[in-house]
Amino acid sequence: MKDCNCIFCKIANGEIPSSTVYEDEDFRVILDLGPAAKGHALILPKEHFKDVTELDPKIAAKVGTAMKKSLGCAGFNLVQNNGEAAGQTVFHFHVHVIPRYEGGPVIAGWEPGKEDPEVLAETAEKIKDAL
Ligand code: AMP
Ligand code: ZN
Repeated sequence: MKDCNCIFCKIANGEIPSSTVYEDEDFRVILDLGPAAKGHALILPKEHFKDVTELDPKIAAKVGTAMKKSLGCAGFNLVQNNGEAAGQTVFHFHVHVIPRYEGGPVIAGWEPGKEDPEVLAETAEKIKDAL
């Protein structure tokens, strides 16, 4: 279902122009207006509120492979933010495909922490119990 106030619904459904690199019945893939690296793309489902279970992983692989061929990047990251605390700013489910170049900028990295094995075990139990 479409949400009339959602910018990604409008872009995905072609009501607002975008730099489209791929389109099928269910998805549109566009270039991000504020790219983390040259070629940064967003996979937008045409329906609002579709979640991660709706993403066909073949599309992400297809776009990433095309980036390696056409842009010469050495790899790519798939990034998907859920909730404000995780950095989501547009609340229409989407997946970032970010090309990574040799010697390119550091993107989406974290410093590995240290954790007590007992705390790891407790944390794993908590998550398991909630599944
Ligand atoms: P997120 O923070 O995961 O919600 O990602 C939203 C992304 O959408 C950001 O990387 C923005 O740069 C990008 N963005 C926002 N508006 C547009 C737009 N009109 N066209 C293309 N990309 C956009
Ligand atoms: Zn939407």
